Amino acid sequence: MQSLSVDLQKIAKEGHHFRNWANTFGCSPELYFEPSTEREIVEIIQLATKNKKGIKVVGSGHSPSDLALTNDYMISIHKLNRLLAVDNDKGIITVEAGMDLHTLHQVLKNNGLALSNLGSISDQSVAGVMATASHGTGTGYGSLSTMIVDLTLVNGKGERLFCSTTSNSDVFEAARCSLGALGVITRMSLKVEPEFRLEAKQVPAKFEDVLQNWDTVTNSAEHVRVWWFPHTQDCVVWRANRTDKPVSNNPPSWLKYTFVGFHVYQFALNIARYRQSMIPSLTKFFYNNVHSSPTEVVDESYKVFNFDCLFPQYVNEWAIPLEKAPEALRRLDNFINTSELKVHFPVEIRFVDEDDVWMSPSFGRKTCYIGVIMYRPYGKPVPYKKYWRVYEDIMRSLGGRPHWAKAHGQTVDDLEESYPKFRDYLQVRNQMDPNGLFVNKYIERHIVGKQPMAKL
Ligand SMILES: Cc1cc2nc3c(=O)[nH]c(=O)nc-3n(C[C@H](O)[C@H](O)[C@H](O)COP(=O)(O)OP(=O)(O)OC[C@H]3O[C@@H](n4cnc5c(N)ncnc54)[C@H](O)[C@@H]3O)c2cc1C
Repeated sequence: MQSLSVDLQKIAKEGHHFRNWANTFGCSPELYFEPSTEREIVEIIQLATKNKKGIKVVGSGHSPSDLALTNDYMISIHKLNRLLAVDNDKGIITVEAGMDLHTLHQVLKNNGLALSNLGSISDQSVAGVMATASHGTGTGYGSLSTMIVDLTLVNGKGERLFCSTTSNSDVFEAARCSLGALGVITRMSLKVEPEFRLEAKQVPAKFEDVLQNWDTVTNSAEHVRVWWFPHTQDCVVWRANRTDKPVSNNPPSWLKYTFVGFHVYQFALNIARYRQSMIPSLTKFFYNNVHSSPTEVVDESYKVFNFDCLFPQYVNEWAIPLEKAPEALRRLDNFINTSELKVHFPVEIRFVDEDDVWMSPSFGRKTCYIGVIMYRPYGKPVPYKKYWRVYEDIMRSLGGRPHWAKAHGQTVDDLEESYPKFRDYLQVRNQMDPNGLFVNKYIERHIVGKQPMAKL
């Protein structure tokens, strides 16, 4: 600490231990910084360069992988969370990139605006969500990174770059889904729309009916999500459309959703750790008693998009071409029905339009994301690796691209083959970070290979 400037001493901490949301990955950085200005970020980069240390920025720590980990210098930019500008006519908002989505929704609401699409939760930071091209659902909506109009990056050389389609455009394309490997993103402007309400209806459905009517189901609303209850033929289809109807949102039954759907479910899954054969019956029970009844709600958009993701979990999620998803799901069903393995519900099925974000898993193709989950009741371990192996083999064989935030088994070669802009991204990355400050184990394993500065 003594070697730090007076300014850096005020924002540096020793002995910080980081754990991600699901408590599945963690690290102990040598120094942990909480800057609130770009100037301080530049100073941290200079210090890391001098001391030959790596840097990772952490957003809200929600990624279920080692993507944000480092034992060198970790930066949290949660103090860079201010609103910078609103242009109501153009529908563009500019914020500091450490703002979390909950705050962003309120800021947007105060200005009569809202995000057009959203994932399951709003705990992430703006920069973190975009760094992994996180997604919501809806065949007419690309990854959330498509909302970015411009951004400011402090790169690995300590330079501050404003990037858009007309300014540093290659850096912009790479930084829209940066994987945290180009430097620190400090500001973003996002394209948003006037605030709106969504009417969401959830109905029970049968697995084969969903697969046989695939195009109809996937396009049956602006936003469609399917939950499949593996070991059964049961699904629920959730559909949401923009509406002028007034808010009508009866508070969900505490007994059904909180007591049974959360607490009893967690307790039952904990018992099932010792008796896995119970899992299919548990799935049937919770489907029949908690999830199968039709529901309807009208509310502000961000409240309807988000839902309760319950408790810590192992997750894996890949994107495959939309039309290949029925085959993937049938093969997964076949494996689950013929294997000894018992798996948790739900398998979550969501849809994303093709986009042009270089490193987005939906780059250049309409996409179906299939997410698999194994809950960790009370944070306890459960077996999941065999499930993941078979799931990944299926997704890989159908041209799958893993969600960047989630731990996966793709190699640099696999990824280079499936991303047409992979080498362009790598070239920009190497220019922005020639000393490899932002290369951690994840980036080395999946992006740059053993030679961080490999000749392109
Ligand atoms: C319960 C749960 C629900 C989820 N739901 C969805 C969903 O519906 N859809 C979906 O697509 N994903 C979902 N995710 C995944 C989540 O959106 C991603 O993991 C996202 O990247 C997390 O954002 P974060 O702010 O926590 O970032 P972190 O996990 O902290 O970091 C992610 C990456 O962003 C980088 N980063 C963060 N800030 C900056 C910055 N300022 N500059 C440069 N790089 C930066 C980090 O270095 C790292 O590489 C979910 C995750 C959980 C745990």
